[in-house]
Amino acid sequence: MSHLTILTEQEDKPPSEDPYPNDRIRPATNENLPSRLAASRALFISPTNGTAKEILKKPSLPSQRKRESRKFRLSPQTRAFRLRQFPNASDDEWNDWHWQLRSRIRDIVTLSRIIELTDDERNAIERHRGSLPVGITPYYASLLDPCDSAQPIRRTVVPVSNEYLHAPGEADDPLNEDDDTPVPGLVHRYPDRVLFLVSGFCSTYCRYCTRSRMVGSQGEYRFDRNQWEKALQYIESTPAVRDVLLSGGDPLTLTDDSLEWLLQRLRRIPHVEMIRIGAKVPAVLPQRITPALTRMLKRYHPLWMSLHFAHPDELTPETAQACERLADAGIPLGSQTVLMAGVNDNVETMMRLMQGLLKIRVKPYYLYQCDPITGSAHFRTPVQKGLEIIQGLRGHTTGYAVPHYVIDAPGGGGKIPLLPETIVGRDGNDLLLKNYEGKIFRYPDPV
Ligand code: SF4
Repeated sequence: MSHLTILTEQEDKPPSEDPYPNDRIRPATNENLPSRLAASRALFISPTNGTAKEILKKPSLPSQRKRESRKFRLSPQTRAFRLRQFPNASDDEWNDWHWQLRSRIRDIVTLSRIIELTDDERNAIERHRGSLPVGITPYYASLLDPCDSAQPIRRTVVPVSNEYLHAPGEADDPLNEDDDTPVPGLVHRYPDRVLFLVSGFCSTYCRYCTRSRMVGSQGEYRFDRNQWEKALQYIESTPAVRDVLLSGGDPLTLTDDSLEWLLQRLRRIPHVEMIRIGAKVPAVLPQRITPALTRMLKRYHPLWMSLHFAHPDELTPETAQACERLADAGIPLGSQTVLMAGVNDNVETMMRLMQGLLKIRVKPYYLYQCDPITGSAHFRTPVQKGLEIIQGLRGHTTGYAVPHYVIDAPGGGGKIPLLPETIVGRDGNDLLLKNYEGKIFRYPDPV
């Protein structure tokens, strides 16, 4: 049974600049100064010995933030797009993640100025109601092919009418997450870790989103500080939880202060050994990865990130710089990729993506078989396709470039790894093994 609160008219708005507009609880700051100008104190709890120490954070002045944001480099393609579509945007504005959020493309009129919409895309957008609206950052829009509706990354963010088909086996919550929700916004499925859904907002909405039921405008679920408190209390009172994955929505669309508040609270819980953040932001809003953000994040180690990538076209200079900043802050970066028909369902594309991720210091971690969410049939491939891709990677390229191929079992069974068959039989005391070239080898393995 779902414990999540249902809303009917929640707007698709970026989280407020002030994360606590109606609250008295804020990160500790010097009194009588605006919080952004004040030196503030952060509590660091050592995950190894539980000792606490208070850290004085230096204030970041607006001029300093501005200078830092200018350092983001632009790719030639994105620069040309900006001049064409946003001629009045300065370099500073373009590189400011708040500007990117304010300027998101969310309606058919703006989108049709940027790409040539097909009749099918146009109808699908006009027909859309409810969660998972259209939302694309100007940066990500600069990567879209304006004329080719079959371009892989365009297919991931522009709706088509196939989204409205309901194929057998599909469900709005195919992983039964709502049934594993002991308190609103917290999924506790595995013994020692929880999924903490902290936001329903994303800078760019993916048409294949597993949590499409809860993200975007008029989403069905509530994400607020009261709910965070309940989730934190659950984690505090459950000593088995040693690993917390912040997800949503995209947690990196929260303000630095909101995110730090959450991290501080989690770090005060002695049994929470590691914190992970799942995010698509480096691919769709790399400008968000500011020096101020990474300075803050590195105070909460061990902190890991699972970054979401769909296609090598996302591996731009901007995204490389964002990942470099995170990696330089000591954050181990892993990737997760959903296998999708017509997007990345061939060895060559997947090879380029996985090798490209390694080049920007992201370890390919999971390749997901696409979840059977409602309206996803046009994205789903046969499982055999995923096995072929893994076979095309394993042995043919660096082992680090080969992700775990998994199905997140419908009904809530958790992730189940899938491997191409390598043990082909036995001959007496020998095990018969198939290598990456399809040749058979023997391994002495007495029974
Ligand atoms: S960024 Fe993640 S949560 Fe947001 S729409 Fe994409 S897949 Fe869903």
